[in-house]
Amino acid sequence: MAIMEILKYPEPVLLCKAGMVHQIDGALQKRIDDMIETLYAVPGLGLAAPQVGDSIRLFIYDMSLHEKEVKARKGPLVVINPEIVAMEGEDLSEEGCLSIPGYQEIVKRAYRVQLQGIDREGKEIRVIGEGLLARLFQHEIDHINGVLMIDRFSSLKKDIFFRKLKKKAKQDGSF
Ligand SMILES: [Zn+2]
Repeated sequence: MAIMEILKYPEPVLLCKAGMVHQIDGALQKRIDDMIETLYAVPGLGLAAPQVGDSIRLFIYDMSLHEKEVKARKGPLVVINPEIVAMEGEDLSEEGCLSIPGYQEIVKRAYRVQLQGIDREGKEIRVIGEGLLARLFQHEIDHINGVLMIDRFSSLKKDIFFRKLKKKAKQDGSF
């Protein structure tokens, strides 16, 4: 297993719509293991394949990572070709993204969503998420559609974000 680099905005692969997974083979299983190791190294709650440079429709998550007791953790879940089949309600909460480090902002999301996809064994998954889990599903599916949380901002918030980004890039000498 290997820890991969998490790509940062504005890396082009983050802005592309990812392709469907057609085959769950050994190479894909290895990539999934590497993604899990990378997520746990951060540690983060969720990671989508484009964030490590793979333009495929896949994400992993583990909502139990905040548990201090390792045995209370449920282990990572892998969702391949995910789709939100139903959503309801509204939720305004702060959100962050591993590809936009150090930046948190209120993003409007559905409060409850039904997610469908397949797991790494090819079995069908159906999960209903509420609150933070529903937010994570929407955030990760946005990633595989090439959409970032900043695309969900109002134009005013977007302006502020780009101004901050420019300032930071100037300080880092990378602009
Ligand atoms: Zn993200």
